[in-house]
Amino acid sequence: KQREDIRNIAIIAHVDHGKTTLVDELLKQSGVFRENQEVRERVMDSNDIERERGITILSKNTAVTYKNTKINIIDTPGHADFGGEVERVLKMVNGVVLVVDAFEGAMPQTKFVLRKALELGLPVIVCVNKIDRPEARPTEVIDEILELFIDLDADDEQIEFPLVYASAKSGYAIVELEDDHKNMKPLFEAILEHIPAPVGDPDAACQVMISTIDYNEYVGRIGVGKVDNGVIKVGMDAVVVNAHDPERVEKVRINKLYEFDGLDKVDVKEASIGSIVAISGIADISIGDTIASPENPQAIPFQKISEPTIAMQFLVNDSPFAGLEGKFVTSRHIRERLFRELNTDVSLRVEESENGDSFKVSGRGELHLSVLIENMRREGYEFAVSKAEVLYRRDENDKLLEPMEVAYIDVPDEFTGAVIEKLSMRKGELRNMSASNGGYTRIEFAIPARGLIGYRGEFLTDTKGNGIINTAYEGYAPYKGDISYRKLGSLIAFETGEAVTYGLFSAQERGVLFIGAGEKVYAGMIIGENAKAEDIEVNVCKTKHLTNTRSSGADDALRLSPPKILSLEEALDFIETDELLEVTPTHLRIRKKILD
Ligand code: GDP
Repeated sequence: KQREDIRNIAIIAHVDHGKTTLVDELLKQSGVFRENQEVRERVMDSNDIERERGITILSKNTAVTYKNTKINIIDTPGHADFGGEVERVLKMVNGVVLVVDAFEGAMPQTKFVLRKALELGLPVIVCVNKIDRPEARPTEVIDEILELFIDLDADDEQIEFPLVYASAKSGYAIVELEDDHKNMKPLFEAILEHIPAPVGDPDAACQVMISTIDYNEYVGRIGVGKVDNGVIKVGMDAVVVNAHDPERVEKVRINKLYEFDGLDKVDVKEASIGSIVAISGIADISIGDTIASPENPQAIPFQKISEPTIAMQFLVNDSPFAGLEGKFVTSRHIRERLFRELNTDVSLRVEESENGDSFKVSGRGELHLSVLIENMRREGYEFAVSKAEVLYRRDENDKLLEPMEVAYIDVPDEFTGAVIEKLSMRKGELRNMSASNGGYTRIEFAIPARGLIGYRGEFLTDTKGNGIINTAYEGYAPYKGDISYRKLGSLIAFETGEAVTYGLFSAQERGVLFIGAGEKVYAGMIIGENAKAEDIEVNVCKTKHLTNTRSSGADDALRLSPPKILSLEEALDFIETDELLEVTPTHLRIRKKILD
């Protein structure tokens, strides 16, 4: 049976292409104003529930009502998948709106999510936004999108996508370029017409699978999911079951149920098939859990949440410079922030060291952790991080296993060779290569996760910033053998100094190595085989300068190749193994000095 009064959609858009403006405009034109929200929040903050509402402004879901139809808009993660997140979110919806800037065109970064949506057979409405821009080139952009769809193996129906043009900023959408500019109605209509209403059996036993977790300090964990079958009601007894955990059978009573309305969550007494609901009061509710009727406690199958594959140490900054660049420096601050993150991120693990001065944070790949690090730094947390390490496992015969990733890469044709060479050196295996649109080549590599550590910086250099790389976890596979890096040169000197981290300049001609920790710090260097004596410089810096530089491009490069502290012994080992190290030169405060 169909719920004609509901549409569940996701919006896919590249950053800055106008998703927020568009959703705001849809809200506004259906009578909800974000500004009002703040007023209401302040007025009602004495009551827990209202406080909770205030916080739901941050919630990722919004709902607008148009012609008695509730349109639930679910946010999609903007980049590569961290443990099935994209798929879980897309399984709640029956179609997507792809928002594309009328000048910039479709950006390769949106491909990952778009591909998933197409694979799941979802219809896509294309919304070419910012057509008011003087340099807008909507017709070309549409051709590019069409090529992209073909490239991503869209089926015939998906390729004949419904199209609207919009200026979210001016508040209108149109179907033909010469149409009058009025309001967002054409987009609302396209959603009602082209996105199917959700289906399910309202008379069957209740099943709600939790797809995302919200967290609120007053009510704790809030599970969000779609009612797949039956009806969920306040006051009913239910069981929580999980397809990947047969042991999990928890009896619960549903005490609090919400639906989304505008930017709010509102209390409801019951919800039927197709509704997106939020449920609080189940303390250990987790992603993938199904809330089911006791008479038929069947879990809905879902893609298993991937285990962490990579770990980094987050080190408390105890230098005299602590607090200069951030508000939150103590281990208590960092602990609280990390544990808060665990409430909503199921692919993350945190372990605290005994003395509390470091945290081992494990996650789904280097990018996953980089995003967390960047968010924390933006919020004012100050800490150093170690280089990422992969988490190995053993199979039942005690054979060493390592995590594998698939890298989806789009590069301008001229850089294809360099990229393939580098990834092959890092034990990558070429799976697929094809011409893509606009002089780009698409390459697919299976590669050990350790082969990707520190690779993104190199990739950006090798492709002059024009390449796009997205990675997805593939599973554990037998260890692929040691990676042999190029020989870089030899250690020529040591000196006590203030350096507490290492960095290596250009991998070709020369490199500089910083080693040591605390009071006893050495600076040494290795130089490339072709380097001359006058090329040699020693760069002495403090970890702090490396880890807290916040200029955008530089910060990006840094978090992708975080510095690491080595003991002298480790440093000597390192020299023997010729391990490849990378860091960007922009971060180093340079004191030039020649050593003999
Ligand atoms: P998001 O990152 O996709 O959520 O993008 P935003 O909604 O924040 O928009 C990014 C920028 O584009 C903002 O400065 C908006 O004002 C601007 N913008 C959004 N929609 C339009 C539009 O239709 N026309 C023009 N000219 N600018 C727009």
